[in-house]
Amino acid sequence: MKIVLIGIQGSGKSTQGNLMAKKLGIPYLSSGHIFRNMAKEKTPLGRYIKETINAGFLIPDDKTIEIIEEYLKKPEYTNGYILDGFPRTPKQAQAFKEPDAVIHLDVSDKEALWRLSGRVEEGVREDNTLQAIRKRIENFHTHTQPLIDYYKKRHLLLQINGERDIDTIFQDILAQLKAKTKRPLPQ
Ligand code: AMP
Repeated sequence: MKIVLIGIQGSGKSTQGNLMAKKLGIPYLSSGHIFRNMAKEKTPLGRYIKETINAGFLIPDDKTIEIIEEYLKKPEYTNGYILDGFPRTPKQAQAFKEPDAVIHLDVSDKEALWRLSGRVEEGVREDNTLQAIRKRIENFHTHTQPLIDYYKKRHLLLQINGERDIDTIFQDILAQLKAKTKRPLPQ
């Protein structure tokens, strides 16, 4: 099963993505994680990616599509995946093969900022300054919000209220996924 997760930073995509991966027995993959690893490389591309993600900007579509498509050719992804963070723009979605379902974890900007302010203080991620987080939230509304309509029109969208406790959200995702894909899920 090929699943895409859409949501503002702080919406719980990686938490839910990892729970789903375990339950469905397919790997979880995050485009942000791929880019953060590439940003460690001491090459012109690595330096460019580091500057871009630290400022909260998006990597250009052509580059992103090339990198993610290449990644998904690995044998571990042939049976499916939970993809967090890609596609993130209409151009990326048009270039990408249609997934089986797209999950939108819906969390307000206010709630996301509140959750993320804790992570800024902990200093877990170098690209997590408040300024970069604000830029990412703005990017979401400008570039990623149109994807919600795009996938809704294709009847692939599952709207999930992300402002509930982790298990309630997870059970809701599983129930909606089962109904949408008409496939039994592992017990
Ligand atoms: P994330 O962990 O999803 O917040 O991603 C961290 C950063 O990686 C983003 O702020 C972007 O700079 C970059 N990135 C991740 N996914 C994409 C994408 N699909 N398109 C463009 N840039 C991306």
